[in-house]
Amino acid sequence: MRMSDNPSIRYQITPSSRPGFTRYSRLHEDHARNRTVLLAPERAYELDPISLEVLQNIDGATTINNLCQRLAEKFTAPLEIITRDVIQLLQGLSDKRLLQEGLNPLTKKTVSGNKQNDAGYLPGPTGLLAELTHRCPLQCPYCSNPLELERVTSEMSAAEWAETFRQAASIGALQLHLSGGEPTARRDLEEILGHAVEAGLYTNLITSAVLLSKDQLSRLANIGLDHIQISIQDVVEENSDLISGYKGALEKKYAVARWARELGIGLTINAPIHRKNIMNLEKIIEFAVEVDAQRIEIAHIQYYAWAQKNRAALIPTKEIFLETVNIVEAAKQRLIGVLNFDFVIHDYYASRPKKCTGGWGQSIIVVTPSGTALPCHAAQTLPGLTFDNVKDQPLSKIWETSSAFNAYRGLEWMKEPCRSCDRRELDYGGCRCQAYAFSQDPAATDPACALSSDHTTFAALAEHEAYAPAPAFIYRRYDALSKNKN
Ligand code: SF4
Ligand code: SF4
Repeated sequence: MRMSDNPSIRYQITPSSRPGFTRYSRLHEDHARNRTVLLAPERAYELDPISLEVLQNIDGATTINNLCQRLAEKFTAPLEIITRDVIQLLQGLSDKRLLQEGLNPLTKKTVSGNKQNDAGYLPGPTGLLAELTHRCPLQCPYCSNPLELERVTSEMSAAEWAETFRQAASIGALQLHLSGGEPTARRDLEEILGHAVEAGLYTNLITSAVLLSKDQLSRLANIGLDHIQISIQDVVEENSDLISGYKGALEKKYAVARWARELGIGLTINAPIHRKNIMNLEKIIEFAVEVDAQRIEIAHIQYYAWAQKNRAALIPTKEIFLETVNIVEAAKQRLIGVLNFDFVIHDYYASRPKKCTGGWGQSIIVVTPSGTALPCHAAQTLPGLTFDNVKDQPLSKIWETSSAFNAYRGLEWMKEPCRSCDRRELDYGGCRCQAYAFSQDPAATDPACALSSDHTTFAALAEHEAYAPAPAFIYRRYDALSKNKN
């Protein structure tokens, strides 16, 4: 049985188990949609009435036996069937590492909720990505920040972020991703986090970890930080330094990951993989297990912004990409109940595109350091769109009426072959930014799709670049491109 001091063994639910929520999972009253969900790292699970009844009754003290007897009496149902179904439900959640034996003593709350605002609720985005700053001590050549980085003088104040969080929660945002740049570069991060917790949001700090001290992380945990996502450039020190353009990052990441787990904060390791670190993928997975992460995101690079500038230096061959698929599949089987995987495959070697950002204007809103509201990170690369600012307009109005959010929402904007394709509501034609970058038409089919007329050229480009000698990185810096021109 997995106990807090032995995290690398699957926690098996049995009739004598006394499961409780981990510090980083809880039920949440989603008033905007009139439902209760289970909040977890990067997820909000919808619950049917029976699952909700079960989860409302797990407290880290009640045995499964006692719980099932109560449920069998309440619903006049056979005990064996109730027991089988309850164990199956809870084992699934245990394998996602959302449950543990007993209640975590560091747990802040087991139920949360967002507060209703005066205007009432309109269901809006479920996630808010708050880019608190574009400052960052690292210089990753695949950074998703724009090439024109926003300056510190334009950053929103903590009070402006507080208002943004309050409005986001009031229209149904559940998850808040505190991102950057490097969010810990903000001296007022603790104040900002406090506002997010006050608004009832599930908080996720996306960080390179190099600026965090143990004391600061402890203060963030006390304020109510739920989850931390630590990016890893590589687990071979020399290579980590080379990719990040920062000496000594790896050791610091290791330390912060361990502190986070001591404090009961949920942990995801985020590992963008590419030509310069792909050979170490198995070691990166081992690192995630060693630091007791519950999740790992292994993402082949998405080629826009800085990554597009560095594509020839980053793109792996198709053979090596296929090896990563095998490595991840084997690790998933080996690590059931220990480590959960999110694997983003390589667009250039795909035959169908991803549903980019969950569908344009459907589930997430990105707010840049200066307050510009975007449907996705890279939306400012598209022509002809006007973006509103949260300092000028209420978030609900931006979400509902802004021309940028409506430009590629739904299906009306689509051209053939997407318009008549039976996958159009599954992937919404893929990524608009990738379509524009490749074909100069933002309404074109994503070239990652084999049905796109650009797909053959798109795939051939990857083959060509992946086998050619890799050029030096153009590091992500404020002045990198102007220097490069000289
Ligand atoms: S990708 Fe690298 S450079 Fe960009 S914000 Fe993250 S840590 Fe900083
Ligand atoms: S044609 Fe369009 S909708 Fe169909 S699979 Fe390709 S990208 Fe998706």
